Amino acid sequence: MTSSLVIKDLRVSVEGKLILKGLNLEVKQGEIHAIMGPNGSGKSTMAYALAGHPKYEVEGGEVWMDGVNLLELSPDERAKAGLFLAFQYPTAIPGISMANFLRAAVNAVKGGNGNGSKGIPIVQFRKMLNEKMELLKIDKSFARRYLNEGFSGGEKKRAEILQMALLEPKFAILDETDSGLDIDALRVVSEGINALVGPERGFILITHYQRILNYVKPHFVHVMYDGQIIKSGGPELAHELEVTGYDDLIKDAAAS
Ligand code: ADP
Ligand code: MG
Repeated sequence: MTSSLVIKDLRVSVEGKLILKGLNLEVKQGEIHAIMGPNGSGKSTMAYALAGHPKYEVEGGEVWMDGVNLLELSPDERAKAGLFLAFQYPTAIPGISMANFLRAAVNAVKGGNGNGSKGIPIVQFRKMLNEKMELLKIDKSFARRYLNEGFSGGEKKRAEILQMALLEPKFAILDETDSGLDIDALRVVSEGINALVGPERGFILITHYQRILNYVKPHFVHVMYDGQIIKSGGPELAHELEVTGYDDLIKDAAAS
């Protein structure tokens, strides 16, 4: 059965200010949706709210997946339900190797046997990690490095893609995965995303620029402005925006 992630009339405030003002979006497994829009539109707010960040106060609306309102689940329950988020600004954790971090993440999300469970056996995890690193063409030495410490922008993004590959989420939300990457890093990261695209996974790609959409082809493009989707279309919308910019769209939205 194909799952959908359905966001209905989502309203979210940050520090008392309403940022998302009735957001609606439906993403099915197998679909790639790009969310574009000027800075300050609420794109990251959407990602944080879906993840369950405590600073983002849900004022109204629902987010359905497999008959469950995700907003009623804790952040770790959302991850177990199959939601994955990659954030714009990942943090470094000195002293924790990639491999150990990833094993802990897999156990937390997929282990699920609770108390007393030792989680996935090391040998099995190693095999899985090697398979995913091969799939994503990541060098073996990567797993021995400390998480995000001294990582280049591109390496941080690859670490996130590797984490996503291991967690095998139903829905992945990537917030400006393209930001700060040079063209070579962008290509590598895009290849990683494309390797994980498939009928069993839905993507929300948040991006300010259409550049990454040259490499990862969206089925749908949405423009967010002032906490709402003001326009939706196919991949051609991203190309139009590259030429026209957001200004005319915003004027039309303000006038209506
Ligand atoms: P985008 O990702 O589209 O650039 P954001 O969701 O980051 O937009 O921001 C939308 C609005 O919410 C902005 O006005 C921003 O100042 C505010 N905002 C977002 N996150 C926070 C936060 N953690 N603390 C205070 N204000 C925030
Ligand atoms: Mg943002």
